[in-house]
Amino acid sequence: MDFQLNDQQRELIEGTERLGRQLQAQAKEAGDAEHHGDFEPMHKLRRDMAANGLLGLNMPTEYGGMGLPLLDTLLLIQSLQKIDSTLGGLAHRTSTGAIGAILELGNQAQKDRYVTGVARGEFGVSIGITEPDAGSAATAMKTRGRIEGDDVFIRGQKIFISAAKAHKYTMLYCRFGSTGSARDIGAIVVPHDAPGFSISPGTLNMAGERQYELFFDDCKVPRENILAESNAFGKLISVYNAERLGSMARMLGSAQASFEFALQYVQERKQFGRELADFQGLQWMLAEMKVKLEAAQLMVWRAASNAMTGLPVPVETSMAKVYVAQACKEICDDAIQLLGGYGYMTEYPVEARYREVRGGSIYGGTLQIHKNMIAAHLLGRKNNQWAPKAET
Ligand SMILES: Cc1cc2nc3c(=O)[nH]c(=O)nc-3n(C[C@H](O)[C@H](O)[C@H](O)COP(=O)(O)OP(=O)(O)OC[C@H]3O[C@@H](n4cnc5c(N)ncnc54)[C@H](O)[C@@H]3O)c2cc1C
Repeated sequence: MDFQLNDQQRELIEGTERLGRQLQAQAKEAGDAEHHGDFEPMHKLRRDMAANGLLGLNMPTEYGGMGLPLLDTLLLIQSLQKIDSTLGGLAHRTSTGAIGAILELGNQAQKDRYVTGVARGEFGVSIGITEPDAGSAATAMKTRGRIEGDDVFIRGQKIFISAAKAHKYTMLYCRFGSTGSARDIGAIVVPHDAPGFSISPGTLNMAGERQYELFFDDCKVPRENILAESNAFGKLISVYNAERLGSMARMLGSAQASFEFALQYVQERKQFGRELADFQGLQWMLAEMKVKLEAAQLMVWRAASNAMTGLPVPVETSMAKVYVAQACKEICDDAIQLLGGYGYMTEYPVEARYREVRGGSIYGGTLQIHKNMIAAHLLGRKNNQWAPKAET
């Protein structure tokens, strides 16, 4: 067991931070433009990040990726997120995002097309799971694909889909069978120009990013786009654990940025004729923030290290998620407190960091859902939350 980052990892982080800082202003512009519905700057940023080796970090080199282990990938996502949330988001979605599932479940042609396209910055792929009536209870999804010859006709609706309007495809979870059980659930890649497909204008979330509704009105997609026709939900969720770790790396990057800003600030700001850093009450806050940050990192690193030869262990991912989301929220909240009124103002960076990490307790499975999974594991029980069937 080695808790030190090695020289190569330190160099990777330093090099990535250098590149990230060069792209920082461009990323801010791209994020602002996307906020207002202009996606061109984001496409350009995507291509520039790919040219600098910042996309597809853990994707195999044969598909245009950087071939890094999951742990190194997460370290770099965290480094980029620390600089700018748009950089962190692109690194995450093109590494630990939908293409992880395509790499795992796809055939050769699908991998050549989608994994390579995403890793090279040509386009993005969203993940479509959540529906208006199927949030935490994801297996209650109703969206269905009907196979007719060489085509699939999809009917249904998804909600809260991240980055969909900036992306060219969605990896859609939907039902193909009709048993009504989770066994019916498979996945298909849906091009956003498919007939019968449409996207809502999007709703702004607390972090200033847009979440989209996707509508499938007998949306016609070639059958060859199917990744898995049935019995895929368990496998998809196992792959999704890497996505969850990627989003935790983003939370860590935001919390680290908040912590470092506050640490500097308390050594500059004076009250009562002394530095804020001289007050023991604030020193203890700093100490607690640092302890939480280190502990959260270690949980993510453990889950990633243990996944080197395969997929992350579900219970390690869930435990990391519960701790990281909570710890990062508290670190970012404390950073606001350390800055006083300035921390609450948008001119200072810490309030935005709090808004960035807040969603982490909700997306990728809420904290309560992850606690259910941890408890089921501890008790050796099946994690079944469904209401008992009424007696007839
Ligand atoms: C920023 C953001 C990005 C997202 N991106 C995507 C995306 O790209 N693709 C996608 O498919 N989805 C995405 N989502 C959706 C996300 O996965 C869902 O919001 C999440 O799964 C919760 O579902 P819900 O919102 O319907 O809440 P609900 O399921 O209605 O839950 C409401 C509350 O009840 C609690 N609860 C529900 N069931 C239980 C239970 N059994 N035990 C204890 N508590 C319970 C929950 O924890 C929560 O506190 C995103 C969401 C956010 C906020």
